[in-house]
Amino acid sequence: MKISDLLNYDKPSFSLEVLPPAKGQDIKVIFENIDPIAKYNPAFISITYHRDEVVYKHLRTGAIEERTVRKRPGTVAVAAALNYRYGIPVVIENVLVLRGDPQKSERSFVPNANGHEYALELLKQIQNMNNGLYLDAELVHPAATNFACGVAAYPEKHPEAPNLEYDLLFLKQKADAGAKYAITQMFFDNQKYYDFRKRCCDLGINIPIIPGIKPLTMKKHLNLLPQTFQTILPEALVHEVLKCKTDAQVRQVGIEWAVFQSKDLLQNKVADIHYFTMGKSDNIIEIVKQVF
Ligand code: FAD
Repeated sequence: MKISDLLNYDKPSFSLEVLPPAKGQDIKVIFENIDPIAKYNPAFISITYHRDEVVYKHLRTGAIEERTVRKRPGTVAVAAALNYRYGIPVVIENVLVLRGDPQKSERSFVPNANGHEYALELLKQIQNMNNGLYLDAELVHPAATNFACGVAAYPEKHPEAPNLEYDLLFLKQKADAGAKYAITQMFFDNQKYYDFRKRCCDLGINIPIIPGIKPLTMKKHLNLLPQTFQTILPEALVHEVLKCKTDAQVRQVGIEWAVFQSKDLLQNKVADIHYFTMGKSDNIIEIVKQVF
């Protein structure tokens, strides 16, 4: 089932982003989180992909060993397992086409050898595969794939972009290259999303722009999220979090703010709301119960 076919403005849905279990953890960890929310019928689930990281280990000999590790492997296998267990469409034949972030040790993104520099190039490669054109020109009668692609969008601009106008140029190119929908980075002020959607529309970017919502769960999010995602937290939200004495109280504030954002979004024509679960679903269940 193509995600783009599921999106219906008359009957908005919600969807989830989940993390693969950390290396060495059982898949049960993810089932335990999805089982209770599955009955609320998420329209689709996307599973994050975590690129290799280079880590350095000090050996007893004094030497330093360089190792490449993936802390959360198994994106495709997890997608298949979720699809089999719940029958919920996952992002497999639906691909969320992303570039990925720079390695922690890098100041800016460096593609792998022969890799792509931007998501747009990967998107074009997948669109070619949908037409039976593979990079390996030696293939005999290659089968055309049937991937439906989504892409990322940034209402408060991507951290590397000099401004929103610049960033939108490339979102337009991704839409023109065949992306069927975009999912936004998290934002906490709906007006930012509405302004962004209007600018997309003015530029002829006519794909659904699915809002991405992340409920706050801990006080340190106040600094961490703006630093990592370049999002600005509204004063009213920050005031409420600062009153909290424990992270359990912050979690409650996060739920209330996400409910407030979600209800407002539903009144302003969205086809889906995508919740970033970060591996835990109890707060998302509470939000979904109050909103859908
Ligand atoms: P791009 O579209 O390539 O854009 C990256 C930057 O380059 C932008 O500043 C853009 O303006 C600029 N740009 C684009 N094309 C060009 C061009 N042709 N010339 C010059 N500049 C250009 N990361 C993960 O590692 N795993 C995940 O699972 C994951 N899931 C995500 C889910 C969502 C909903 C979102 C919004 C992001 C997710 N990310 C994930 C983060 C994403 O990988 C990073 O934000 C990454 O830095 C950019 O990815 P992109 O696909 O937007 O890149």
